[in-house]
Amino acid sequence: MNLNQENQYTKVLSSVSAVKGVGKVIAGELGKRGIHTVFDLLYTLPRSYQDRRQSIPIGKIVPGQSVLVRGTITDIGKVKLKYRAAFEILVNDTTGTISAKWIGSPRHLFRFRKAQKIMLFGRFRRSLRMLETFHPEIIEDGDPIELGRLVPLYSEMEGISQKRMRRIVRDAMREFAPGLEDPLPNRITMDRKLPELEEAIREVHFPTNATLQDLRARRSPAQRRLIFDEFFTLQLTLALKRSKASGQRGIEFAIPDLEVLYCALPFTLTGAQGRVIREITADMSKSVPMNRLLQGDVGCGKTVVAFIAAWIAVSNGYQVAFMAPTQLLAEQHYLSTLELARRMSLRTALLTSGMGSSAEEVRDRVRKHEIDILIGTHALIQESVEFQRLGLAIIDEQHRFGVAQRATLKDKGVGPDVLTMTATPIPRTLGLTLYGDLDISVIDELPPGRMTIQTGLFHERDRGKVYALMRRELDRGRQCYMVYPLIEESEKVELMDATRMAEEIGRVFPDFRVGLIHGRMPVDQREEVMASFKEGTMDILVSTTVIEVGINIPNATVMVIENAERFGLSQIHQLRGRVGRSSYASKCLLLSSTRLTDEARRRLGILTKSTDGFRIAEEDLAIRGPGEFMGERQSGFYQFRAANLMRDAKILSEARQEAFTLVESDPELAHRTYALLRQLFMNGQKGLGEFADVA
Ligand code: ADP
Ligand code: MG
Repeated sequence: MNLNQENQYTKVLSSVSAVKGVGKVIAGELGKRGIHTVFDLLYTLPRSYQDRRQSIPIGKIVPGQSVLVRGTITDIGKVKLKYRAAFEILVNDTTGTISAKWIGSPRHLFRFRKAQKIMLFGRFRRSLRMLETFHPEIIEDGDPIELGRLVPLYSEMEGISQKRMRRIVRDAMREFAPGLEDPLPNRITMDRKLPELEEAIREVHFPTNATLQDLRARRSPAQRRLIFDEFFTLQLTLALKRSKASGQRGIEFAIPDLEVLYCALPFTLTGAQGRVIREITADMSKSVPMNRLLQGDVGCGKTVVAFIAAWIAVSNGYQVAFMAPTQLLAEQHYLSTLELARRMSLRTALLTSGMGSSAEEVRDRVRKHEIDILIGTHALIQESVEFQRLGLAIIDEQHRFGVAQRATLKDKGVGPDVLTMTATPIPRTLGLTLYGDLDISVIDELPPGRMTIQTGLFHERDRGKVYALMRRELDRGRQCYMVYPLIEESEKVELMDATRMAEEIGRVFPDFRVGLIHGRMPVDQREEVMASFKEGTMDILVSTTVIEVGINIPNATVMVIENAERFGLSQIHQLRGRVGRSSYASKCLLLSSTRLTDEARRRLGILTKSTDGFRIAEEDLAIRGPGEFMGERQSGFYQFRAANLMRDAKILSEARQEAFTLVESDPELAHRTYALLRQLFMNGQKGLGEFADVA
């Protein structure tokens, strides 16, 4: 195969409008669903299938089943259904009669005639008279796409009927599938018992040799193949990225005796902290730059771990950059580590964009290596910031920074180690796709003596109880957070809104000072409010979800969450982490305004029972799916066409294994069987190499 020539595979990467019958309008509608290329179209799995292989005698219909029925129209008429006009036909065969009804009077139905032969596909249910079906599909005889086979059902798309969509896919297949090269090496398809690409595409859309049951569970070989492809693509991208990184030259830090340092700490490290430090020191002593993600719930003690890594870098004669996403967090890191820094004899400084003229002095001292650890915000990646010898970059809440920003910070040194940290627990399957090129360490243990946060679920009518609990804490001099899902009253969704509630709370607690913070406030105003809450000149902080992850206000002991059912579990867990940051007992009070469904109650119940962020995240992911789960936290999250992280976890791990093995054995994808993969991944083509420029 000469890859410089256009091959069938590259044609698949052209716009959907190349498909017969796909004009501007249809292309636009498909585009809304993320279907831009023929490739996207072919990888769109049907959401289900209908069995239209043969018709069923009316006498044999089982209620609840969707079946194809053939018969003769015996009656046509208008009926009333719960005061609504409906249209009914009766159809019989030699074994019985059924009724088909349409609510409203769709005009096209008036062409029915008595004694006309007809074919219907619908789900039947028993009524008093006979079996009936609503809005069945009318099937034309002799249509090979619609009849005599398992027929695909696609996700509903505005302006594109199922019939139309089937035709579009069929036409795309006819033109583009024949002779389609398979980028997956033969060995993998054989080992994993996966069909060739061309066959898989045909079989996914118009199955001939799979059971309906397998198809519906997305377990047919053809479906597995396309799902595998999506995971493999992403994992190969990650494997190549990691392989490229491992070719880079980093700093081989000498690891000093840490016991001396440990003695200087005001507490004993937890077992989890110790383990993670060993993982980090092992990385740091290697010649390859460290690229590690440190995960751990709020308050588990990530900062100390980061500082120990920093101390190692500094004692090797290097500098450290410590970047946080907001001014407040940066300041907090700086202030909270002053004591630690003193004990470790580290010279730290703070750099944020709001510092004015003193910033120049800080930059100057960094340049002269009079500063060991520079803590700050995005200000750290400005051009004017020059390190004499940057050896370690620490990035807090790493998902808040873009790939480019992280890279810029790294480029201020020569092959520095990178330690990123997050308090957002990411379930494993998701972690493998999001951070598959990083090494991951987890702190899964809180320091001893931490009071667990009591979490309770309250109904709106118990609002008084919630206020009483708040008052008890306020009277003791403690502070409260109250969080609302929205900031303005909306006509449609009757949610409490923070602005209105701040006033209400002011009336309920006239003897306390109430502040308000929300996402539409300018950043500096927001930080001002946070600062006064932190200083204690404010008792109750009413807010939307803008209060920062990682903010540390030990005197705050109550977190009230309004309309709790509107939040994701992980989000509530994060919010809950704002309290319980001292030896005072803390509470998280979840208020639900609507009548809760059993499911919602069960879901929120998990929070009252568990404080394990990972367990909560798994549950959350299972309920909401990866897109929404990551929604607020991760932009640029991949939308899989065929795959589903929860359902297909096993295929994910197989694909990951194949991709990493392949790159390990042939990092340049040089072997001739990888020719097409090389073209797609190395030249940044789309299609199977779609993620090449994402990760
Ligand atoms: P994170 O950054 O993971 O949210 P921090 O590093 O800010 O958590 O730690 C939270 C608090 O716990 C800090 O006040 C810190 O000094 C304290 N801490 C950390 N590790 C320990 C430990 N092993 N024992 C007791 N207290 C600890
Ligand atoms: Mg922290």
